[in-house]
Amino acid sequence: MSRRPFIAGNWKMNMDHLQSIALVQKLAWTLKDAKFDGSSVEVAVFPPFTDLRSVQTLIDAERFTLAFGAQDLSPHDAGAYTGDVSGAFLKALDCSYVIVGHSERRQGHGETDEIVAAKVQAAVRHGLVPVICVGETEAELAEHGTSAVPVAQTKAALAGLPAGTPVVVAYEPVWAIGTGKVATPEVAQEVGAAIRAAIAEAMSDEDAAASRILYGGSVKSGNIAGFMRQPDVDGALVGGASLDPTEFAGIARFPDHVGA
Ligand code: PEP
Repeated sequence: MSRRPFIAGNWKMNMDHLQSIALVQKLAWTLKDAKFDGSSVEVAVFPPFTDLRSVQTLIDAERFTLAFGAQDLSPHDAGAYTGDVSGAFLKALDCSYVIVGHSERRQGHGETDEIVAAKVQAAVRHGLVPVICVGETEAELAEHGTSAVPVAQTKAALAGLPAGTPVVVAYEPVWAIGTGKVATPEVAQEVGAAIRAAIAEAMSDEDAAASRILYGGSVKSGNIAGFMRQPDVDGALVGGASLDPTEFAGIARFPDHVGA
């Protein structure tokens, strides 16, 4: 089964709505200048909520081959949840994806596996593909080894999802996020394969074969090729480097240097 590689840019809390327009324009033009084949690699941006309408309008008007999504959503659909954003609203803005369970939310906002699972359910209810982030801290790595925590988080997030539900899982070792420290491609492969087995157990073999598994953690244009050569790494979730359109385009263009 061939999976379309997926390069996703998590802007975190950067870029206001005017800056988001400039960044998406520059990214699209850079890819176009490089004759980038958007049908063979899917590129998506994940701006802050307040940018989504601007990004949607621009991508739609210019027919850019870029997907987009949100960085979080509420586990609830509507009601007295001050500050929450419903998956229904994200779907109404044409979001295709939503990040769920990023370690910055697990750690900074106390998101448990149960909350993450409820958010995955909310995403699926509204036709959004969840990009489920899993990964171990440095202490968990020392205590449990490489795959145990990401596998347990994957199983918890997928609990109760019917077979045939599209999901993306991003393996993001917490110690590699924004630190410049990078997992080796071999470790990313080992964990990617373990996550794929967990998807098979939680959903089905077909889902495991179809689901895209990303690596995230200090990915740059200079190190993406090593990850993309791994059979169980189907793309990258990129934080810091996604704010630089030239660098992010370089990551999206990994097929140009993956054989190098
Ligand atoms: C992230 O926040 O998902 C991430 C991978 O960040 P960075 O690329 O900056 O390590």
